[in-house]
Amino acid sequence: MAVTYQDYYEILGVSRNATEKEIKAAYRKLARQWHPDLHTGKDKEKAEEKFKQINEAYEVLSDPEKRARYDRLGANWKAGQDFHPPPDMEGFRFYSGTGATGFSDFFEAIFGGGEFFGRPARRGPVPGRDVESELDLTLEEAYRGGEKTIQISAREICPACGGDGFDENSFCSRCGGTGMTGSVKTLAVRIPPGVHHGSRIRLKGQGGEGLNGGPPGDLYLKVRLLPHPVFRVEGNDLETEVVLMPHQAVLGDQVAVPTLDGPVKMKVPPGARAGQRLRLRGKGMPHKAGRGDQYVRIKIDIPDRLTAEEEQLYRRLADLRKGV
Ligand SMILES: [Zn+2]
Repeated sequence: MAVTYQDYYEILGVSRNATEKEIKAAYRKLARQWHPDLHTGKDKEKAEEKFKQINEAYEVLSDPEKRARYDRLGANWKAGQDFHPPPDMEGFRFYSGTGATGFSDFFEAIFGGGEFFGRPARRGPVPGRDVESELDLTLEEAYRGGEKTIQISAREICPACGGDGFDENSFCSRCGGTGMTGSVKTLAVRIPPGVHHGSRIRLKGQGGEGLNGGPPGDLYLKVRLLPHPVFRVEGNDLETEVVLMPHQAVLGDQVAVPTLDGPVKMKVPPGARAGQRLRLRGKGMPHKAGRGDQYVRIKIDIPDRLTAEEEQLYRRLADLRKGV
């Protein structure tokens, strides 16, 4: 199949023996001139086309390997001529329309599908990619740990065609020519008790599929702890609040406090102040050396409404206070 020959030297307006520096300077000047953002209306379309050509030319001429390959075609071609890739450039894959690069068919014919795009060579085994995903956990799930079943959707390079989208001479039947496949996997994840927000759990071999018998990649799940209505997490410690009435703060008391193990009685010492933190040792998150602590921050509230007797007593307290 023929494609249209592109004269990259002519596009950049440089001679065939231009230096790298000259090529770069020519590219910069033209790229500035034809940048699509600088044009509007009908001009914009033309600028986009030009800009693409300039980038393609620079892509080839700025890379010594690609330039050498291009130069091997010889100097006798004219821009716009029908061009048949020479048979010694075997391994190229030609298809029109949606090139993987967004560059011209000509470019695809000379450079497409080869080693130039970091596509895996089709022969040897290629390991699959590592994949990262997120895992939302409630605080209770992170605290207890254990097994959780999750579903993740994976998009990966099609293992049948290696991302080319082609299967011999027609579109790949596995991916329909897109080069990518999507699948939903159900996985059982082992959650270590006390896992932190942001830590990564590795699932060996659950990442992208390998190609040509290569091993699969790993899946990394990044833990996201969902906000909890009662507890705040600080490393291995937890913080919660308890609300006291003024008399409890003044005289001290025993109060019920929620913990991840269920409610416990906590002793509030006399003279507790608002904002003070009391510690419940070993009621935090589990970790290698044991468990963190839970801190209980004191808030002091006042009764919604006082009985006549209570009010009298507060007045009495106020009077006594004047004398202190
Ligand atoms: Zn495929």
